Amino acid sequence: MADGKNEKPSAFSLQPSAALTTDLLRHLQPHQVLTHPAERLNYRYDAIQFGVTPLAVVLPESTADVVAAVKAARAAGVPIIGRGAASGLSGGVVPLEESLVISFTRMTGLKIIPERREAVAQPGVITLKVTEAARPHGLIYPPDPASFRTSTIGGNLGENAGGPMCFKYGVTGDYVRELEFVDAEGEVHRVTRDAFDLAGLLIGSEGTLGLITEATLRLIPPPKYTRTLMAHFAEVGQAAEAVSAAIAAGAVPAKLEFMDRACTNAVEDYLHLGLPRDAEAVLLVDTDGDDLEIVEEERALVERACLKAGGVVRRAANDAESEALWRARRSISPSLGRIRPQRMNEDIVVPRSALPEVVRQIRALGDASGFHLVQFGHIGDGNLHPNIMFDPRTESAEAVHDLAHKIALVAIEHGGVLSGEHGIGTMKRDFMTDAVDPVTLGALWDVKRALDPAEALNPGKILPEEKR
Ligand SMILES: Cc1cc2nc3c(=O)[nH]c(=O)nc-3n(C[C@H](O)[C@H](O)[C@H](O)COP(=O)(O)OP(=O)(O)OC[C@H]3O[C@@H](n4cnc5c(N)ncnc54)[C@H](O)[C@@H]3O)c2cc1C
Repeated sequence: MADGKNEKPSAFSLQPSAALTTDLLRHLQPHQVLTHPAERLNYRYDAIQFGVTPLAVVLPESTADVVAAVKAARAAGVPIIGRGAASGLSGGVVPLEESLVISFTRMTGLKIIPERREAVAQPGVITLKVTEAARPHGLIYPPDPASFRTSTIGGNLGENAGGPMCFKYGVTGDYVRELEFVDAEGEVHRVTRDAFDLAGLLIGSEGTLGLITEATLRLIPPPKYTRTLMAHFAEVGQAAEAVSAAIAAGAVPAKLEFMDRACTNAVEDYLHLGLPRDAEAVLLVDTDGDDLEIVEEERALVERACLKAGGVVRRAANDAESEALWRARRSISPSLGRIRPQRMNEDIVVPRSALPEVVRQIRALGDASGFHLVQFGHIGDGNLHPNIMFDPRTESAEAVHDLAHKIALVAIEHGGVLSGEHGIGTMKRDFMTDAVDPVTLGALWDVKRALDPAEALNPGKILPEEKR
């Protein structure tokens, strides 16, 4: 969102800070340090928000380069922002003040160790590349954010990214065995999942506790068989009921995705796939495994639950049909881009049993607000993405923020949380006081201060100022 709540984005700084630049160039090559205003301007964005133009941008090629950049920034008293592909949806890489951006896109080293079923990746590796490199060895890397063709491993770790496969296979953090990171003082650490699980603390910390420079990731063999079905329903409650019944009966689908009517119609307007425009809810489901009979039976089980709940079911007859159905899900973002130039992408998680009521309440809020609102998400996990579509030239950013706040409150009232996979960033920072009690917020600030006493790493993200 054009960041109405944060400070006004400054005009880009013509002087990138001589002391900082000189220090950076003592340790790094000129092509690794961007100081021209036109180059720096590109680093004030994530996928939907923009902020202040950074003072300089560093493109490290090694951990030693990251150390040099952190030490130079600290000596100059400049905040540091780690950045991957900037596909984030919550403002995680958006500078709130003049900062040094460390962009990891040139740290793309990747090694597959088949005998250990591991990948060792630098942070700039594109997510999909891990599975592409692992496949010839009969292995895959399951975390699959819809952005996996552009997002990076560093950014996935920063946000603890999820994706459609996460219901059965788990999120990014479930695949981390070891991390190397550079702390706020420029010291290098290697941490495993053992004592205090410091690696776990860094995962999902949005670059506020340390900069990850290498990750050892777990790989698994891919399932041999996959079966797909689509079901559509006259009412959202029926879809949620079908999901709960299928899971209660023992199904653990590999993917379990939901689209509401507004979302289905947006995709249909864009792709003309023959999606059911009148349905209030569409479910896309994959079952998978190594035993075809069990995979087919699991799909039949989901199918029976959908039919019993009043749904209409369509099985994908082959891989091509399955691919067409999943293309609909992957095309939500470009479809929404045709409706309004900007969107605020909510990321709440609620108990599955609360989904019908939550979806209804959010629809009512959207209709009352006058904004175009669509809902979709990983329904198996109760992770819902209400998207508020808007035009910043004609619609108020404050009104968008206000609606997003009301949506967050609906999630909290139903025992949910603010973020399933996109992080808090700046977008939901103000809602943290609604979601987290003051004692816990104080503890989060204590953790931040213990690892980054000068608050140099990605300041202004996640933690609300007033509980400092
Ligand atoms: C079309 C679209 C679909 C998406 N679908 C999904 C989805 O299905 N699931 C999902 O989870 N997300 C999704 N996202 C959101 C986004 O892609 C993810 O949050 C992704 O993990 C961000 O990766 P990135 O490389 O772009 O990170 P960035 O946006 O560059 O950074 C994200 C955060 O990580 C921090 N960071 C980056 N690198 C490092 C590092 N090396 N060390 C420490 N911190 C670091 C940054 O400071 C920032 O706080 C989607 C986004 C888009 C645009």
